[in-house]
Amino acid sequence: DRLGVPSSEIIKKLFLKGQMLTINSPISFDLAEELAVEYDALVEEEEEIELEFGEKFALEVEDREEDLVERPPVITIMGHVDHGKTSLLDSIRASNVVSGEDGGITQKIGAYQIIKNGKKITFVDTPGHEAFTDMRARGAQVTDIAILVVAADDGVMPQTVEALSHAKAAGVPIIVAVNKIDKPEANPMKVKQELMEHGLISVEWGGDTEFVEVSAKKKLHLDDLLDTILITAEILELKANPKKRAKGVVLESKLDPKVGPVADVLIQEGTLKIGDVIVAGETYGKVRALLNDKGERIDVVGLSQPAEIIGFNQVPQAGDTIYVIQNEQHAKRIVEEVAKERKLAETSRKTITLESLSEQFEHENVKELNLILRADSRGSVDALKESLLKLSNDEVAVNIIQAAAGAITESDVKLAEVSNAIIIGFHVRPTTKAMKEAEEDGVEIRTSNIIYHITEEIEKALTGMLDPEF
Ligand code: GDP
Repeated sequence: DRLGVPSSEIIKKLFLKGQMLTINSPISFDLAEELAVEYDALVEEEEEIELEFGEKFALEVEDREEDLVERPPVITIMGHVDHGKTSLLDSIRASNVVSGEDGGITQKIGAYQIIKNGKKITFVDTPGHEAFTDMRARGAQVTDIAILVVAADDGVMPQTVEALSHAKAAGVPIIVAVNKIDKPEANPMKVKQELMEHGLISVEWGGDTEFVEVSAKKKLHLDDLLDTILITAEILELKANPKKRAKGVVLESKLDPKVGPVADVLIQEGTLKIGDVIVAGETYGKVRALLNDKGERIDVVGLSQPAEIIGFNQVPQAGDTIYVIQNEQHAKRIVEEVAKERKLAETSRKTITLESLSEQFEHENVKELNLILRADSRGSVDALKESLLKLSNDEVAVNIIQAAAGAITESDVKLAEVSNAIIIGFHVRPTTKAMKEAEEDGVEIRTSNIIYHITEEIEKALTGMLDPEF
């Protein structure tokens, strides 16, 4: 196509060179070059860069079925503040430390791994849905299963609802850990009922969400929770290829005055080794040392395993994908390329507005309008939700990602960013932080005190009749 030569001619040429090929046959770089010379064209070996970038340039190497092996599930814990996320992470870790190992567990490294019934489980140690969605906004999906912690003495709270929306938007299965059941005032039944209103129905009641009653403090039923995680993971059939060059995600990073840039990573594909040349975002380097979650030096890092890497030339950003590259020269070229692209992306960042979405409904194949709703009370949330859902037409469906009472938060903006949604506020305003974040991330917030104004605007947008701005 590029040469403007019919394929039959190329096939004939190849045939004369003794190559019996069809239009679908891949050919080597050398052969392509040999051909190109005959047409006075230049072939550049771009392939390597494209391969290294994986999804960025959409040219991932296909895994052979026989190379895929089971990998440990990666778990994130979310929930309302003070419901016990950190306590749960700590208790699970402490209960599953092999005796005599205790001395090593002070290491703080973004994630840790435990063994239960001979199977590994990885916990990402960044509790909270903001961190989770922050990662997603940067293109990194690290979680296989979300644990939603709800304190049995407190019930479903605003951030419980937020966390739930964030997990749902990411499409990860949710296990509910009803925590603090040691407390006399604990009411796990109430938690179940409240979550049912948000679409999480317990298996006992005919739904498909597992609820496990635990106490992080008294270490009660933590085994049940781990068993439930393993069963859920089994259904997901999580597999990856340990043979290929490693790929992972930077969870945290810092500059250590003694050893230089340090990155906590989670390996998602392949196996990382000492001496590997790596890139992550705009940084590159060579793996000088690897430490596991106990702070011990290791030589290789396997699937779903967290590790600390020393060897980057600069501090990579959390959420950056890390790739192992053939050689340093190559790595340098890639980070230059990334730096250029990021600069470009910064200047041409697209904003999601009702107007731009409306245009997409008209001209592109977009079939859903994603909305995040906030109103001053539960009652008005429901009223708003109901009137907006009614606006779905044959072409475009209104999809409500989250509907909650209270001010518009930063977390809503993050969720809107990753879901291509706009935020609607009824009788509420965004917090200052949310406003700033929305501006930075290019997310539109529309507020009004009249329901009719909101529904009218959305209806117009759905039919592609929106007047520019109101
Ligand atoms: P986070 O904000 O969700 O990370 O919550 P924390 O783990 O910091 O816990 C908040 C408070 O609840 C702390 O004072 C914990 O000691 C307490 N807590 C956590 N889990 C339990 C539990 O199972 N039972 C009781 N009684 N208290 C708990």
